[in-house]
Amino acid sequence: MFYFDPLYLIISLPALILGFIAQIKVKSAFNKYNQIPNQAGMTGAKIARTMLDSAGLYNVSIERVRGFLSDHYDPRTRKLRLSPQVFDGASIASLGVAAHECGHALQHSESYGWLKFRTWMVPTTSIGSYLGPLIFLVGFMFSIQPIAWLGVGLFSLVAVFTLITLPVEINASTRAKKWSKQYLNLDRDQQAGIKSVLDAAALTYVAAMMQAVSTLLYFVFLLTGSRRR
Ligand SMILES: [Zn+2]
Repeated sequence: MFYFDPLYLIISLPALILGFIAQIKVKSAFNKYNQIPNQAGMTGAKIARTMLDSAGLYNVSIERVRGFLSDHYDPRTRKLRLSPQVFDGASIASLGVAAHECGHALQHSESYGWLKFRTWMVPTTSIGSYLGPLIFLVGFMFSIQPIAWLGVGLFSLVAVFTLITLPVEINASTRAKKWSKQYLNLDRDQQAGIKSVLDAAALTYVAAMMQAVSTLLYFVFLLTGSRRR
């Protein structure tokens, strides 16, 4: 029901627009730099193995996973999963994405604070994203303020989670850029290419954060508005 409220649309419009722009940017940056071979002449899988080994992370294995940009590092199993285009591709884009995911593995091995916090928040966040809006709705519909605020509180965990994701993602990209600059002999154009791919990806996380915050604002707005009546 919330998604058809014009107020919700107005509040979340900036986030929706940014999300849309971010999606386009990610796709266009990836497609552009996926056409250009990286100067190291290495596939994403090879880049990842080299970067992990250079940090002594021999125990992190690399797997091919289905999907487009489905690349991720799984801290629980210590596995780096790369999408086919990144795993097998020897482009600037596959280099950037593979190195970024390795950045997460490095964060994990160093017990990087924001990553630890983020991993710790995963279960509570999934509860908050489902139960928060539901509890809010019940409280709001039956005008039970404490219940509605409990829903808001639960959903605010989602907003916090998306906020914590930002330093984790930006740090992983910084590590990727630093490593490729130090270990691979890339010219400025190649480095700039890696940067545009990773910056576009970072924008999607900013959009997700804004989306969560605007939904939270909407809930608060409904509650404080109904209180005045
Ligand atoms: Zn990441």
